[in-house]
Amino acid sequence: MTIKSDSPKLVDGMGRTIVNLRISVTDRCNFRCTYCMPADNVEFMDRSNLLSFEEILRVVTVASGLGINRIRLTGGEPLMRKDLPTLIKMINGVEGINDVALTTNAFFLKDQAQSLMDAGLKRLNVSLDALDPEKFRDVNRRDCLQAVLDGLDTARKVGFKSIKINAVAVRNFSENEIMGLIEYGRSDGFEVRFIEFMPLDSDKVWEREKVLFGHEIIDLIKEKYELVPVDNSLEIGPASEYTFADGKGKIGIITAVSNPFCDHCNRIRMTADGKLRTCLFSTDETNLKEMIRSGESDANIAETIRQAVLIKEPGHKINLDDFERPDRAMHAIGG
Ligand code: SAM
Ligand code: SF4
Repeated sequence: MTIKSDSPKLVDGMGRTIVNLRISVTDRCNFRCTYCMPADNVEFMDRSNLLSFEEILRVVTVASGLGINRIRLTGGEPLMRKDLPTLIKMINGVEGINDVALTTNAFFLKDQAQSLMDAGLKRLNVSLDALDPEKFRDVNRRDCLQAVLDGLDTARKVGFKSIKINAVAVRNFSENEIMGLIEYGRSDGFEVRFIEFMPLDSDKVWEREKVLFGHEIIDLIKEKYELVPVDNSLEIGPASEYTFADGKGKIGIITAVSNPFCDHCNRIRMTADGKLRTCLFSTDETNLKEMIRSGESDANIAETIRQAVLIKEPGHKINLDDFERPDRAMHAIGG
């Protein structure tokens, strides 16, 4: 069924305007985080199915014509994709795109920070769940905390102004790491954001009881610091932000499970094999790769994106009885 839409913009059936496209450039990763990937025997996409840079650019160009103005590159580990700065430069040249950001585990950041900066990357999110080397190894299944810290340090030195640290909040794991991460963020100028653990792990061990909830994190921090909520009414994002009353630093809490921000969601995603997903938890996808490779016109691709967005899911159903896990785990979707 085709729904009629006269809007040149991407507006969904609930009236939400979509301006944000997250693009996964690979499903491969050098880490094996417990909340995302299995420890071994991962089945990766065949490389021939990955969109080329030119194909990604085509989607970005069409999407920008529909009002998309923010792009985030992710994965898998996006810095494992060869020549990523070249893609960033290409996307930066697309009219209408005014923000290109990257989410990375930072293992390769020390070597790539300067070229990412030169390519015009504006914002960086780095995943870091623990500052204790053993706990880092337990959760990321790799013994390389120092490489991540070096990556962060280099990113700051080459001039990245907006660096956020993402920590997944897992019960009986994160509690003892929270204050250390906060002190690190305050002293080195990184905004630390805690993301409630979502049911997107390959191992399928997620249970509600394993989520450390946002309000519990706030309570923990408040034992030491007074927090001041930031008025984010003008900027739509998933995080509730707080500054410290002493004026030093900022934190964010993403209550993806306990208090989802679906009503304000302004994003869609594309997987590394060119499937458009209108929600992190979509169980349906739109195959843009097939359209591109079979020679469809820009107009048809644009209309297909518009139609997919029109029936964007009202929200995820994690908290409902009929919740269905998507087939893809986080690394294969693009977080
Ligand atoms: N490899 C890069 C990284 O880790 O930053 C980018 C891809 S990763 C899938 C993107 C983000 O998703 C990371 O911040 C990661 O912590 C988060 N993530 C992965 N699995 C998650 C889960 N089950 N629940 C909540 N966040 C998750
Ligand atoms: Fe890799 Fe990022 Fe998933 Fe960790 S969260 S396994 S670093 S893709």
